[in-house]
Amino acid sequence: MLVLRARVLSPIDPNTVRFLDDALVVIGGTGRIVDVRPPDGTPVDADLRPGVLTPGFVDAHLHYPQVRKVGAATGPLLDWLEGEIFPEEARFADPEHARHIAEVFCRSLAAAGTTLALVYGSVHPEATDILFQALDRAGLRAIAGPVLMDEHCPEVLQLPPDQALPALEALADRWHGHDGRLQVAVIPRFALSCSEAMLAGAGRLSRERGLLATAHLAENPEECALARDRFGTPDYLTIYEQAGLVHDRSVFAHCVHLSDSEWDRFAAAGARVAHCPDSNFFLGSGHMPVEQVERRKIPLCVGTDVAAGRTFRVPRILSSAYDNAVAVGTPVDPRRLLWWGTRGGALALGETRVGSIERGMSADLVWSDLPEWGDNVDCAPAWLLFDHDAPRPHRTWVRGRVVWDREGGGYPW
Ligand SMILES: [Zn+2]
Repeated sequence: MLVLRARVLSPIDPNTVRFLDDALVVIGGTGRIVDVRPPDGTPVDADLRPGVLTPGFVDAHLHYPQVRKVGAATGPLLDWLEGEIFPEEARFADPEHARHIAEVFCRSLAAAGTTLALVYGSVHPEATDILFQALDRAGLRAIAGPVLMDEHCPEVLQLPPDQALPALEALADRWHGHDGRLQVAVIPRFALSCSEAMLAGAGRLSRERGLLATAHLAENPEECALARDRFGTPDYLTIYEQAGLVHDRSVFAHCVHLSDSEWDRFAAAGARVAHCPDSNFFLGSGHMPVEQVERRKIPLCVGTDVAAGRTFRVPRILSSAYDNAVAVGTPVDPRRLLWWGTRGGALALGETRVGSIERGMSADLVWSDLPEWGDNVDCAPAWLLFDHDAPRPHRTWVRGRVVWDREGGGYPW
């Protein structure tokens, strides 16, 4: 049993948050929250006030092999991939390099307060296995998989379907469902790096084994034109539809340049958007049309998209999401942003046990600073998301276990 006393900020639904200025959060031995109640004289293990406890953040799109390329300002997308990213990702053929970066990657997630992440791994199955080992040691919750690529990228990064798909199945046998925290995803990087056979194989695996599928979609106009041209389809989404990759366990990153028809089919299939506004700004990819998503009630999560995104901190990305929404003329309330980065994000990824501080939920929590004047339900979400000068979180827990402790030596694993 662990009893924390703190201010508590937690989403209830997309438009409503709960703010408690002084509360006890009681965590049971299984790592579940067993009670949230006013102080009643129960001895506490830690008094975190005036800090605030929020649910752990959900990062729905980022790349493990790109950690060292954060801030490589060489967009647009296709030039950046060719010049900076593909050479860096090729280094993951070396297990030593993969091991070192996997450690850095997990530390960066935990110190950012991210407790659930959807991670693009390396094209190298061994490097992705190393990532899973690091995520397991760190105690983080993640959905990850090797990136599938077999065409139109450097040869050292190509793995044909008859090798890549069995390797993915072997990873799924080993890690899918591991400790209730880790899942394996099917990740064809994007249409431009995959053959039709690879996309079809990925779609089949995702449906047969019930694995989440994720890919980049309509990030950049040049990418869209090339994809349509290469596959001979009327639009980009058709390529993924033909491969059976568009369903209610699909998460598509970016979705900046889709037609009305694509948005309609996307929504009808139950697919989800991973909105990556900071990356879209940094590579000059464009603005995501939030109203298309909201109008169709498409589940939305947000991604840092490290390394095209410049931070591991989901609150910074939510701040960028605010800027993006203002730019397209549909401002978003901070409460809704918080939903996207916590409970809403988790639900979009199919994870029902995390994302709010309520009885029965997993104790995936973050302890952050909140200025003394951010002491009400109107101010607290805005301060949490928009104060770019705020330091890193003090502490992060997954299932009640500390995975980051700023004052206590950093990483306990
Ligand atoms: Zn990406």
